[in-house]
Amino acid sequence: MAFEGLTERLQNAMKKLRGKGKISEGDLRDTMREIRLALLEADVNFDVVKDFVKTVRDRAVGTKVLEGLNPAQQIVKIVDEELTKTMGETAVPLNKSSKIPTVIMMAGLQGAGKTTTVGKLANRLKTEEKARPLMIAADVYRPAAIDQLVTVGKQIDVPVFEMGTDTDPVEIVRQGLAKAEADHNDYVFIDTAGRLQIDEQLMDELARIKELAHPDEIMLVVDAMTGQNAVATAKGFDDKLDVTGVILTKLDGDTRGGAALSIRAVTGKPIKFVGEGEKMSDLDVFHPDRMASRILG
Ligand code: GDP
Repeated sequence: MAFEGLTERLQNAMKKLRGKGKISEGDLRDTMREIRLALLEADVNFDVVKDFVKTVRDRAVGTKVLEGLNPAQQIVKIVDEELTKTMGETAVPLNKSSKIPTVIMMAGLQGAGKTTTVGKLANRLKTEEKARPLMIAADVYRPAAIDQLVTVGKQIDVPVFEMGTDTDPVEIVRQGLAKAEADHNDYVFIDTAGRLQIDEQLMDELARIKELAHPDEIMLVVDAMTGQNAVATAKGFDDKLDVTGVILTKLDGDTRGGAALSIRAVTGKPIKFVGEGEKMSDLDVFHPDRMASRILG
């Protein structure tokens, strides 16, 4: 991930303040205007930008930063802290059930990286906790989707429960959960169907799966490279499904940063993990503070 444009513009906006013993209100106004433009150009949600700029300005004025020592440095610090807050403050761990299995339902649009991400997460739990996950193939609309999950399962040595494409996905999930119970799997992943866009039929199906499976985690997978579309998608899924977490994929290919910076503030739901490549090991916990530092460079 490199949000180079954003990093450079933010640095430039604040560099102009450096070395000044005292910052005038005009200086602050200019800086805030540049920060605002930098964020908008990075495709950050308009309301998020507005709130962000207002908060930083209010804090700078309220804490009398302009008259204090090292005003430039203090403004950088405020920007850093507010970027961190906008993205959720601290890392949020995976929800876990008090008794096995923990059920994780994965949702997202086609191509967002859902199947790959199920594999990455299962692989991570396997490596870190010696977990024994089961993955349920509940996308019956594309035969290739089942094959893909089976291939991922072989790659990471995690079993896949599938019943082909002729059974109702809710029934597949029901039988998959029974199998996990019988086999004492500690995690169950439900790989649901995706569409090119949000439609009612898909949402109804996901709602029915949710009702049956009572997932501990409804993880929404969104593609960072789609910027504000990723944010709109997250909002759309969350309104219907009340998701518990977001995984932002393809951050390695995202040059702007708009989705990473907007999703938490727009949906109120935490980004829990980020995908940063195509390999099974390319999944990281999302740390808002580290992301803010990376953005500021
Ligand atoms: P699904 O339709 O949502 O199940 O999406 P897939 O899991 O099939 O992923 C679609 C494409 O995105 C595949 O080519 C993946 O290898 C790729 N992909 C998924 N996650 C990432 C990521 O974090 N970074 C990159 N560069 N590619 C990814």
